[in-house]
Amino acid sequence: MNRQEIISWLRQTEPAELKKLWDNADRVRRENVGQAVYLRGLIEFSNICGRKCLYCGINAANTKLQRYQMSKAEIIDCAQTARKLGYGTVVLQSGENRKMDIYFLAETIKEIKQTADLAVTLSVGEWDREVYQLWKQAGADRFLMRFETGDDDLYRRLHPDSKNGVAERFEKLRLLKELGYEVGSGVMIGLPGQSYESLADDLLKFKQIGLDMIGAGPYIKHHDTLLGKNLEKFLLDDKNQTPATEEMTYKVIALARLLCPQANIPATTALATLNPQQGREQGLCCGANIVMPNVTPTKYRTMYEIYPAKACIAESAETCNACMLKRIESIGRYIGSGRGESPGFLARAKMGVGL
Ligand code: SAH
Repeated sequence: MNRQEIISWLRQTEPAELKKLWDNADRVRRENVGQAVYLRGLIEFSNICGRKCLYCGINAANTKLQRYQMSKAEIIDCAQTARKLGYGTVVLQSGENRKMDIYFLAETIKEIKQTADLAVTLSVGEWDREVYQLWKQAGADRFLMRFETGDDDLYRRLHPDSKNGVAERFEKLRLLKELGYEVGSGVMIGLPGQSYESLADDLLKFKQIGLDMIGAGPYIKHHDTLLGKNLEKFLLDDKNQTPATEEMTYKVIALARLLCPQANIPATTALATLNPQQGREQGLCCGANIVMPNVTPTKYRTMYEIYPAKACIAESAETCNACMLKRIESIGRYIGSGRGESPGFLARAKMGVGL
């Protein structure tokens, strides 16, 4: 699929044509990663952040927010809950806190690996090679870091504290891959200032980087952020601005599946926020094969408000789990057991590439 074809799909509005896209992506998903849906237990262990990303509700400039950092014991507890619910992976996610004790995180990873048979995914932002290496040696398996948008001008406007623009983000992803992490990235869909062309280029970039995991969800306006307050200054004219809609999200999931057949692709919480009734199911039916139920203690959830009205915010881990099971079974799929690495990563690991 070339750039022009991707752009045409992104602009497609005919239901009959779109049906072909969903069916094609669903078939490619089935042929490459099968019928299993893997569950990743998400632990939002801290909302402390030093960055000023214009779209994000937990960015450093938001002084309205009460900040928290979970203790090691609390994090281990969440990992045990995930294990009990049968998950093969936990995702440790936080703001980007330069002052975080990197050894604290290393010790926590070690203890999770010692006490539970779980793959550990980190989603903690940009750090130096030595730090990524420390966490890898402690037992971390995977790393998620979206590049958010590959349009360097837009990237710099949205990340005023970035020195080298999106190139820096790409460099970090390359580094993580070299260190042997299974690597995930992705973008927000419908970011004010994002054109169809740039979103098509982002999709091509997924393939070029050779991502093992691709997370793409709609941008959701947060009223206490600079972007939320100044949307009009960023929006392109109607013809060029990508919409932050459910349908556009399905298109991106489907196209990502066609471009990267073996990747693990989640139906994201942001998508479920746009459509709480059917968002996850529909995402899973147009290319996705992963969901990330939240296992963060409910008392912390409301403080991890990267965007408002996040789906499932008040649910306990057990309730979240039961709800996911029902949804997955309702579309004739089943829960995957084990860690659920992407087949592409397993092949690379076997050959010792990037390890
Ligand atoms: N600090 C970590 C984790 C960030 S939160 C990191 O830098 O990687 C995880 C993701 O939430 C971000 O990568 C971003 O794509 C998404 N996000 C942030 N604000 C959002 C918003 N307003 N709407 C939708 N998604 C958002």
